[in-house]
Amino acid sequence: MKEKMKQMLNAIEREVKFTQQMTGRSALDPRVMLAIARTPRDKFVPETFIDSAFNNAPLPIGHGQTISQPYIVALMTDLLELEKDDTVLEIGTGSGYQAAILALLCRKVYTIEYVTELADMAKAHFKELGYRNIESMAGNGYDGWPEYAPFDGIIVTAAATHIPEALIEQLKPGGRMVIPVGQQNRYQELTLLEKDEDGQLKIRSILGVAFVPFQAEGR
Ligand code: SAH
Repeated sequence: MKEKMKQMLNAIEREVKFTQQMTGRSALDPRVMLAIARTPRDKFVPETFIDSAFNNAPLPIGHGQTISQPYIVALMTDLLELEKDDTVLEIGTGSGYQAAILALLCRKVYTIEYVTELADMAKAHFKELGYRNIESMAGNGYDGWPEYAPFDGIIVTAAATHIPEALIEQLKPGGRMVIPVGQQNRYQELTLLEKDEDGQLKIRSILGVAFVPFQAEGR
C-alpha cells in the first residue's frame, strides 16, 4: 500500500478515537476501512490537488463544491452499517468518491448529483475505473429516486435544513439514513435516522459538521 494511503488511514483512525465520546464509536468496521484503502482518492480530485489527495481534508472539486474529508466519508459509511446485498441511495455524487466506497460494500449504489457537469464527470470516472454497480444521474435529489426505492441505506452529502419526507418514505424498514441537518453555512449536525421494522423512526445527532448546502430544497 502506498505510504500516503497508510497515513490517510492512520489519520482517520486517530480522528475516530478523538471523537469517540460524541459518535459512540472507538473504531470503524474493518470492512469500511478496507473499502477506503481500496479506493484511489487521487482519481477523484482535480489534477491541481493531486498532491493533497491523501490528506485527511476536504478539497474543492469545482462549481463551489467539495469532496468530503476522508474521516467524514468513513464515519458516514460506517453509520450506514451496510450488508453486501444492500442497495443504497446517495444524494450529492460530487466527485463520486463516496459512491465508489459504497460500491465496494453493497450490491448497488444509486447516486444523484444536482450539478450536471459534476454528474457527468463522476459518471466518466465510474466507467473508467470499472465500477459496474453504480447508477448515477443528474437531478435534484430532494425527491429521492422512486423508481429504485426502497433502499436499505440513504446517505446525503449536502446539508439540508430538514430531512426530506420522500427520503424517509424511500427507506426500507430496518434501514438507516445519514444526513447533515442544519442551517446552510452554519452549524449542522450529522444525523442518523433509523427506521425499525414497524416503520417507527429513531433520530439522533452524531457530530457537528460543515457541509455545502443542499440545493433547491422542496423544489
Ligand atoms: N459525496 C461527494 C460530496 C460532494 S459535496 C463526494 O464524495 O465527493 C455535495 C454535493 O451535493 C455537491 O456536489 C452538490 O452539488 C450536491 N447537491 C447539493 N444539493 C443537491 C440536490 N438537491 N440534489 C443532488 N445533489 C445535490
